[in-house]
Amino acid sequence: MSLGPDRLARFARHIVLPEVGGTGQVALAGAHVVLVGCGGIGSPALQYLAAAGIGRLTLVDDDAIDVSNLQRQTIYTPSDLGKPKAEVAAEWVRRFDLGLKVDSVVARVGGDNADQVLSGAHLVLDGCDNFATRLAVSDSCVKQAIPLTSAAVGRFQGQVANFAGHLPDQPCYRCFVGDAFDAQDCDTCAADGVLGAMVGMVGTFAAMQAIRVLLAGHAAFGDPQFGTLHLIDGMAPSMRPLRIAKDPACKGCGAH
Ligand SMILES: [Zn+2]
Repeated sequence: MSLGPDRLARFARHIVLPEVGGTGQVALAGAHVVLVGCGGIGSPALQYLAAAGIGRLTLVDDDAIDVSNLQRQTIYTPSDLGKPKAEVAAEWVRRFDLGLKVDSVVARVGGDNADQVLSGAHLVLDGCDNFATRLAVSDSCVKQAIPLTSAAVGRFQGQVANFAGHLPDQPCYRCFVGDAFDAQDCDTCAADGVLGAMVGMVGTFAAMQAIRVLLAGHAAFGDPQFGTLHLIDGMAPSMRPLRIAKDPACKGCGAH
């Protein structure tokens, strides 16, 4: 694949970076990312994934836009209230760049549909709001050998990690959280609150970590840092890395 003159102009600031370059930009144009959750994390993540020229995006969310989302979910406006997030987000991408392919899936991801929804992805970015979906996404990524960027935020704390649990020496998301949350719907945002700019920071950093994975093997920026969780403290503010160990008995990625 090569980039036409209009694409070269659009992505000039990437291409001039030695750590991305033309080779890296072509890799991004050829990538398919599935975004699970088009909310507080997914909305800014989507803006930077689309702006980066990720060639194909699949946007997944079962929720409709509520007035309380507008405080942090930056792609939505008051005229979108009540509409499905995944469809409005796909419309945003179409307005933003006609050169990208975009699909929407208005569904909640669980064990019953994860394999189908994530099929064919080069990377999954999960910014959803519940553990049951996160674990189903992680298990399916391991099964299908798809790298996963997982991002979460609550109040002033954020967590972002790249996982490649299908690799023999790499942990998966389930190694990190265990099995206790399979049946839980743990949307604490409504009860605990969250600062809008904080989810923006976490979502944007998640997009950056996803791009690292997509550029691995193509450009110098691409050290995917699999198995390293970045803990972001918005109050301090600070960011520190934490290495996650692979659990040999893990239900998702262990030898079972
Ligand atoms: Zn695991």
